[in-house]
Amino acid sequence: MRVLIIEDEPDLLKSLARGLRDEGYAVDSSDNGEDGLFNAQSNDYDAILMDVMLPKLDGWQILEKLRKTKKTPVLMLTARDQTKDRVRGLDSGADDYLIKPFNLEELLARLRAIIRRSANQTSNILTIGDVAVNLASRTITHNKTPIELTAREYSLVEFLALHKGEVVTRTQLYEHLFDENESSLSNLLDVHVSKIRKKLGSEFIATRRGHGYCVG
Ligand code: CA
Repeated sequence: MRVLIIEDEPDLLKSLARGLRDEGYAVDSSDNGEDGLFNAQSNDYDAILMDVMLPKLDGWQILEKLRKTKKTPVLMLTARDQTKDRVRGLDSGADDYLIKPFNLEELLARLRAIIRRSANQTSNILTIGDVAVNLASRTITHNKTPIELTAREYSLVEFLALHKGEVVTRTQLYEHLFDENESSLSNLLDVHVSKIRKKLGSEFIATRRGHGYCVG
């Protein structure tokens, strides 16, 4: 899953990016509203975390412009605990909001929830044959046995599982799993796919030559 963070407080931006990367998310970041809007419009993010008070364009303005073209789930980070701000956020098309200061665990849980909802998943468990993906705990079992995956391997399985039965192209996977600095490493994906096949069985991920990958 690839997430954009738009936040102008450098320390918060850095710690959020680190926290998300530790969970296996690919992370892009913007430290002002203009750059944030540009990134949000030019990429297909799985979610956006966005501060309200930002230089150049504020969170409301970004949301208003973004919603004309994209449905990307947005989690607003607001410093103000005022009902009218929250109502405004949700009315403008934000999917959820968190009041600063917040706890990273809670942010991660809300992030998982908005991504799951945007994929129209009501359940936290996705089943593909003998493999079960738990979106809440970000864990995987094979024949009910827990399987150790790296954070990035988990993200790849989760993305494919959320698109069960569909062919997911390599381009889509690069866009959703790797950030702008990693995208140039063209064999990264093959390395992850082959490690996952070793752990979950070679038939778990089917290769569609010239198109991409598919599970289920
Ligand atoms: Ca701010």
